[in-house]
Amino acid sequence: MNLESKIPQGAIADKWDNHKFSIKLVNPANRRKYRIIVVGSGLAGGSVAATLGELGYRVQCFCYQDSPRRAHSIAAQGGINAAKNYQNDGDSVYRLFYDTVKGGDFRSREANVYRLAQSSANIIDQCVAQGVPFAREYGGFLANRSFGGAQVSRTFYARGQTGQQLLLGAYSALSQQIGAGQVEMYNRHEMLDLVVVDGHAKGIITRNLVSGEIESWSADAVILATGGYSTVFFLSTNAAGCNVTAAWRAHKHGAGFANPCYTQIHPTCIPQEGEHQSKLTLMSESLRNDGRVWVPRNAEDAQKDPLEIAAAARDYYLERKYPSFGNLAPRDISSRSAKEVCDEGLGVGRTGFGVYLDFADAIERLGQPAIAEKYGNLFEMYERITGENAYQRPMRIYPAPHYTMGGLWVDYNLETTIPGCFVLGEANFSDHGANRLGASALMQGLADGYFIAPYTVADYLAREGAGAPDPEGPAFREAEAAVRDRIGRLLGVGGKRSARSFHIELGRIMWEYCGMARNESGLEKALELIPQLREAFWSDVNIPGRDEYLNIELERAGRVADLLEFAELMCHDALDRKESCGGHFREEFQTAEGEALRDDEAYTHVSVWEFQGVGNVPVKHREDLEFENVELAVRNYK
Ligand SMILES: Cc1cc2nc3c(=O)[nH]c(=O)nc-3n(C[C@H](O)[C@H](O)[C@H](O)COP(=O)(O)OP(=O)(O)OC[C@H]3O[C@@H](n4cnc5c(N)ncnc54)[C@H](O)[C@@H]3O)c2cc1C
Repeated sequence: MNLESKIPQGAIADKWDNHKFSIKLVNPANRRKYRIIVVGSGLAGGSVAATLGELGYRVQCFCYQDSPRRAHSIAAQGGINAAKNYQNDGDSVYRLFYDTVKGGDFRSREANVYRLAQSSANIIDQCVAQGVPFAREYGGFLANRSFGGAQVSRTFYARGQTGQQLLLGAYSALSQQIGAGQVEMYNRHEMLDLVVVDGHAKGIITRNLVSGEIESWSADAVILATGGYSTVFFLSTNAAGCNVTAAWRAHKHGAGFANPCYTQIHPTCIPQEGEHQSKLTLMSESLRNDGRVWVPRNAEDAQKDPLEIAAAARDYYLERKYPSFGNLAPRDISSRSAKEVCDEGLGVGRTGFGVYLDFADAIERLGQPAIAEKYGNLFEMYERITGENAYQRPMRIYPAPHYTMGGLWVDYNLETTIPGCFVLGEANFSDHGANRLGASALMQGLADGYFIAPYTVADYLAREGAGAPDPEGPAFREAEAAVRDRIGRLLGVGGKRSARSFHIELGRIMWEYCGMARNESGLEKALELIPQLREAFWSDVNIPGRDEYLNIELERAGRVADLLEFAELMCHDALDRKESCGGHFREEFQTAEGEALRDDEAYTHVSVWEFQGVGNVPVKHREDLEFENVELAVRNYK
């Protein structure tokens, strides 16, 4: 497997500019000769499809929802980072770069992260030009707030609906290109395979989710912007439809999968209440700007009314342990601290898996209207779900699976190990190392889509020349047949259990053995249980109905089948990485104070896995990471 990262030469601040100058261009008159497939219409997919359309390429964009506007990006709440330094509080491109590398526990590629920080300011300008209604100060300037892992205010936001507003911006740009005929949009089409011709990605196979039709699409290049795989845990803050299918199918064709075990467990989610929930709800990290996290000091108080627990009997454990960053300690650290206090019996709420996020002090200091102005919709959402008014009593929160830093391996050009197959947004592994800082996913998705891929994909096209293959060719026929065969096998099982019941069971295994804390024996156990569950699935799943019309159970079963294969890869990766870093916490590797203990000598690399067949141990390759600008250090938020 060729893992040449293609990081350009030169000083870090010049790499991207030099690269843009040295890579090839496609002249405007030639762009219409090229067809590009974009799978995904979230912030990453929507922005790249719109931009490529605007540049003059012929784009076909696919999503499985009934509108691009329903991509999971719409759920993003708290904000998007950018190194604008509007607050004059010491921010800079370098500081954003540094915070992101450190936040990722020194497991990301420096050059990519620097480019991300450089692009961040342009994103805000682009979105403001589109009309995205970012929050503003009284005088009209764009407002900022802070997110975890930073000591500056660099997060731009639109109340608690930043993702929705950014997506509407990208969607307007996309709609303009659809109207102009540059982008053909195919809603309710699920990509079920990647087609590789002569070693290059040249198309996809989709199922029309309404009619059941299986179709082949050919192109000069394929871009996957298909989001993350937190639903491998079943319960997560992601939309229930999020899945790993597109990335997994590309992996089976030879695309390396990088760091699949790096998953982010977000500290501020509404705790699980019952067995029948299909998802969990995030309470944005932005709330930690004003909310204080605490648990009772004594286990006997855990079930008491929080309003009756005196200040002296409370442990504001993040402020105590991390005085410099306090409640804005990064997500991995805050989540582990919450687990720790709950494991000690100090957890609150009916289940004992909860900690308080308390706004009483902020309300006293700023007044309720000021808090409502910043977070009103989040408080309303919390009340609708829990029936509790968080202006009057503290919110209850607990960590939940939220984001996946792992993804398909890409080089500096965002190209996978399959030439012509590019991956953008949460679906790639590129920028966040072992832990993503808050408000950095939106930044990455839009940087990839608006400002990076349009250059790097052009370079590929210019080098290869135009000529999408015949979609009736043998590679397409073969891939279509394989897709039909798999659907037939799924429908043919005729068992007794729903796909959802298998998904729930998989989620329990993953949360228990590959969740917030992992250890060798647990991961080995998971590697025994997952193949058994997969076998049970293929002999006992029940999918009512047929495949020639809308069949949501069939869709779900296909995604669960892929998660059942992918989960094993995650556990192999977690087992192999005998260190703790970021969101990957191996219990055997921790400091005396319970912090993650990295092994830089053995693991300063990206683990990239090559598929060897379902159920077979994948082969590991490594991309060594070099830190020339940031010194490897123990992360310190004290
Ligand atoms: C509740 C919540 C709040 C968040 N808040 C923030 C925040 O405040 N700030 C921040 O920076 N990040 C936040 N994040 C993270 C961020 O929202 C996501 O990482 C980001 O939006 C992902 O964008 P994306 O374009 O990569 O993928 P998505 O938005 O998930 O889009 C994926 C697209 O791919 C399509 N797709 C997937 N598979 C297929 C297939 N097989 N065939 C066809 N189409 C397919 C889907 O239809 C969809 O269009 C939040 C995440 C959650 C869950």
